[in-house]
Amino acid sequence: DVDDFYKENEVSVKDPTELNLRPLLSFDHVQFDRRIQSVIAKFPKPTPIQSVSWPYLLSGKDVIGVAETGSGKTLAFGVPAVNHIIETSKTVSGIQALIISPTRELASQIYDNLIPLTDKVGLECCCVYGGVPKDEQRMKLRKCHIVVATPGRLLDLLQEGSVNLSKVNYLVLDEADRMLEKGFEEDIKNIIRETAPHGRQTLMFTATWPKEVRELAATFMNQPVKVSIGNRDE
Ligand code: ADP
Ligand code: MG
Repeated sequence: DVDDFYKENEVSVKDPTELNLRPLLSFDHVQFDRRIQSVIAKFPKPTPIQSVSWPYLLSGKDVIGVAETGSGKTLAFGVPAVNHIIETSKTVSGIQALIISPTRELASQIYDNLIPLTDKVGLECCCVYGGVPKDEQRMKLRKCHIVVATPGRLLDLLQEGSVNLSKVNYLVLDEADRMLEKGFEEDIKNIIRETAPHGRQTLMFTATWPKEVRELAATFMNQPVKVSIGNRDE
């Protein structure tokens, strides 16, 4: 049961909203679009960070996820991102979800994880990073729903007017600790200012929980539910 699951996986949940949502221990109970269900069901069950964070993300909460590398964080934020857009894209067009990642390699990995999902439901995802020409990225940005980006190139494209983030209401800072270590704090803040100010769901995933990351969370998140797996830094 739930108590055993929490103990076994060293799950800690700090929920200022006191919703106390139950973790989804199997894919049978997950309430995503059934096309999404068919893609993720290739795995036996959700990982702990997925189990615990999905109910909060589905209910629209801001979530901080602290869990080690390899624990399934990409789909923890990626699956609800796609589900969110399916639910809202009847009324909204343009870029609705933005995932910021510290490196080109990590951004590409996230993109590769999302493609089976977005292909399945007919949404467009694009990946934006530096070190390559901008032309193709500019073109793809015009018709995509989800953007995965490194901060520098995205800011560059924003400043030249090639991308509009004003409809972004699902924002993910992945590997927030590494982004701050790499000196991206100002870039991140400048990017967030371009996203939807109201009704935005903000997520932060990180392997560690140092003071700098806590401060960034306090600046941009709204009563976040903090989920940690495996006794990470409290
Ligand atoms: P993290 O971002 O936490 O470092 P990833 O999201 O990159 O981890 O996931 C690590 C690996 O686990 C990937 O190969 C991914 O396909 C796999 N994975 C994701 N979700 C599950 C799941 N529910 N069950 C088994 N493996 C999973
Ligand atoms: Mg990751």
